Amino acid sequence: MVAANPSVIYMDNNATTRVAPEVVEAMMPFLTESYGNPSSMHTFGGLVGQSIKDARAKVAALLGAEPEEITFTSCGTESDSTAILSALRTYPEKRHIVTTRVEHPAVKNLCENLETVTGHKYRVTRLKVDAEGMLDMAEYESALTEDTAIVSVMWANNETGVIFPVAEMASMAKERGILFHTDAVQTVGKIAIDLKSLDIDFLSLSGHKLHAPKGVGVLYIKRGTLFVPFMMGGHQEHGRRGGTDNVASIVGLGRACELAAEKMIEENSRVKQLRDRLEEKLLAIIPKSMLNGHKTKRLPNTANISFEFVEGEAILLHMNQHGICASSGSACTSGSLEPSHVLRAMGVPFTAAHGSIRFSLSVYNTVEEIDVVIAKMPAIIESLRKLSPFWKG
Ligand code: PLP
Repeated sequence: MVAANPSVIYMDNNATTRVAPEVVEAMMPFLTESYGNPSSMHTFGGLVGQSIKDARAKVAALLGAEPEEITFTSCGTESDSTAILSALRTYPEKRHIVTTRVEHPAVKNLCENLETVTGHKYRVTRLKVDAEGMLDMAEYESALTEDTAIVSVMWANNETGVIFPVAEMASMAKERGILFHTDAVQTVGKIAIDLKSLDIDFLSLSGHKLHAPKGVGVLYIKRGTLFVPFMMGGHQEHGRRGGTDNVASIVGLGRACELAAEKMIEENSRVKQLRDRLEEKLLAIIPKSMLNGHKTKRLPNTANISFEFVEGEAILLHMNQHGICASSGSACTSGSLEPSHVLRAMGVPFTAAHGSIRFSLSVYNTVEEIDVVIAKMPAIIESLRKLSPFWKG
C-alpha cells in the first residue's frame, strides 16, 4: 500500500479515511463528462441512474441486504436522525427511546433534544456500560417497555472500538414489537455484516469512514419496516429521501463497498496485527499506561490508550510535530477540554481519561509506521510528565 501523503503517519481513521484511489477513479467520470441528472428522461441522465442502481447493489451486497433496502443520504448523522424520527412518527403514541450512554453525538444530541426541546414529550433510557465499555443485558431487557418506540444502539464505539451485541439486542426488541436501529458508522468495512439473518430495522453508515468521500451515507431500512421520510421533496430514493442524488459520491461509496467486500477479511486481519503490535509495545514500555475498552470485543483497527498524568491535547501536539495524526476522544469532542463522555461512562479515572489517545488504523498503515510511533511515544510522554506537578515517576 502506498501512503497518500508520505510526510504524515495517519492513525485517525475513525475520524475520517483516505479516499481509496480506486474510488477516486470510479467517481471521476461523474465529476466531468457524465453530469446528467439521474431522474431525467433522456439517455444521458438515464445512464447516470444506472450507475446509482449499480452502487446500490454493491452497498447491499456488502451488508447482506437487498438493493431496495438501501437509501442514500448525506452522512451518518442524517441516517441516524432519519431512523429515530421515523420511528417516533410511525408510532406517535409511543414516547420512549432506549439508547446507551456512549453514543456518538449524532444520536446522543438528538435524544437530548427530543427529551428537552419537545417539552419533555419523550423519555430516554441511556444504558450504562461497565469498566470495559460493555452493556448489561439484564438492564437492557428491563428497559424495554410497551411505550418504547425505538432502540438505538451503536454497533461499535467510535472512541474505544468496543462492539455491542446488536444481533441479540435486535432480536429482543423484535420479540416485543419494538423497532431497532444501529449506528454502524464505525463498523461497516471493518467486520462482516449479514443483515438478512438479523432483526435490525435500521442501520446507518457513512462513506468517509470506509474510504469513500465525505458527504454521502446510507440508511438501511429492512423490507416491511414502516418508514416516514425526514427529507421531504422529490421522488428520489424511491420516495424515501428528497433531493437530487450526490451521484459521484454515491458511485464512490458503491466502489468502496465493493473493495471492502473483496478484501475486508484478509486486510483487516493485517490491520489487527498492526494494531496489536502498537498496543502491546506501548503498554509494555510506557509506565502508567492502560487500554480503554474490552480487549477482544473490539474493532480490529482501534486502540484507545490512556497515559496517566498528561493531557491528551498536549500529547497530540507533540505527536503532530513528528507528523503523527491521532485523536483524543472523538473528532467531534476534540476542541473541548472536557474528558470524553464515553470514558467517563466507563468510570475511567479523571487523570487517565484526560490523557487518552485514540489510535485508529486503516489498510494504508504499514509496519514501518507502527515502529516509528512506538519509537517516538515514550519520549513524548516522558517529557510531558516531567512538567506535571502530579507525576512522581
Ligand atoms: N456515528 C458514529 C459512531 C461516528 O463515529 C460518526 C462520525 O464520527 C457519526 C455517527 C457521524 O457520521 P457523519 O460524519 O457521516 O455524519
